[in-house]
Amino acid sequence: MPDIQLSIRDLRVHYVTEEEDVKAVNGISLDIERGQSLGLVGETGAGKTTTALSILKLLPKPTGQIASGSIMFKGKDLALASEEEMRKIRGNEISMIFQDPMTSLNPIFTVGDQIAEVIALHTTISAQEALKRAGDMLELVGIPRGRSNEFPHQFSGGMKQRVVIAIALACNPSLLLADEPTTALDVTIQAQVLAMIHDLKTRMKTSLLLISHDLGVVAQVCDTVAIMYAGKIVEHGPLAKVYEKPLHPYTEGLFGSIPVLHEKKKRLKPIQGLMPNPADLPGGCVFHPRCPYAQGPCSTTVPRVTEKGDRKVLCLMYEGIIENRMGVADV
Ligand code: SF4
Repeated sequence: MPDIQLSIRDLRVHYVTEEEDVKAVNGISLDIERGQSLGLVGETGAGKTTTALSILKLLPKPTGQIASGSIMFKGKDLALASEEEMRKIRGNEISMIFQDPMTSLNPIFTVGDQIAEVIALHTTISAQEALKRAGDMLELVGIPRGRSNEFPHQFSGGMKQRVVIAIALACNPSLLLADEPTTALDVTIQAQVLAMIHDLKTRMKTSLLLISHDLGVVAQVCDTVAIMYAGKIVEHGPLAKVYEKPLHPYTEGLFGSIPVLHEKKKRLKPIQGLMPNPADLPGGCVFHPRCPYAQGPCSTTVPRVTEKGDRKVLCLMYEGIIENRMGVADV
């Protein structure tokens, strides 16, 4: 039996204003096993960050609302948890790393104090012991403990993100949410930080939800991948299989948009068009206005999840409703 750490079922999240109802997440389901890492991939506006903010119940108020669905974590439905319950969970059992380290660090406190503060908040140890543990955490992420008295501006971008990771891991959380953790870093530092996240995850047996628009980043760290489009997960499965043979036309389009160095492709094939306005989603399959395989029923029939072995896909081609023109019916 798989040891499921986080289980999301049919989650719907809306941003409601007087003018419009923005459907940011439209019925997603996913599981993350203990110690496993799931990459959530998609373009800006697909609903990835909203999914992570829902797990921590940090949706902007008052517009952001969980409309329905459940988020089960250690036997508790976080969708129904009180603010007091969430305060005990955040930073302690579930931590989040944001894209820009400068928004996560306080410029007027030393990095050691900032790590120690999180430890002191969630444990009963003395302030002195918390500071010692802060030094341990710095060493864990490859920063000498002697630098714990320095301020964020004394660190480079990559080092600052290491400090943010030290804060996120300070209380040994069971689940780490990382939202584009390396996007603000240059490519060399990005590789180092990703290698470190992978190493720490393995050593500390932390489950990871890694959010990224970058298929390469996800490939370096994740075991499974979920592809998100217009608030829905359109494809989900083991990373190696999805990367080897995408089932969904959108996944195929994402791979067609990135250059492959060892292949002589004449031309990249980017996905035509733009992500739909989440306040005005198209009927039928949400991808049909951009899909090169769209056929008549795609504009009227909403696809349901089809299971293909250990993979899932949301497309009428796999329900047998329309002709499968991708030629990957068997996986
Ligand atoms: Fe394309 Fe139709 Fe499949 Fe949607 S259901 S992804 S439009 S083929």
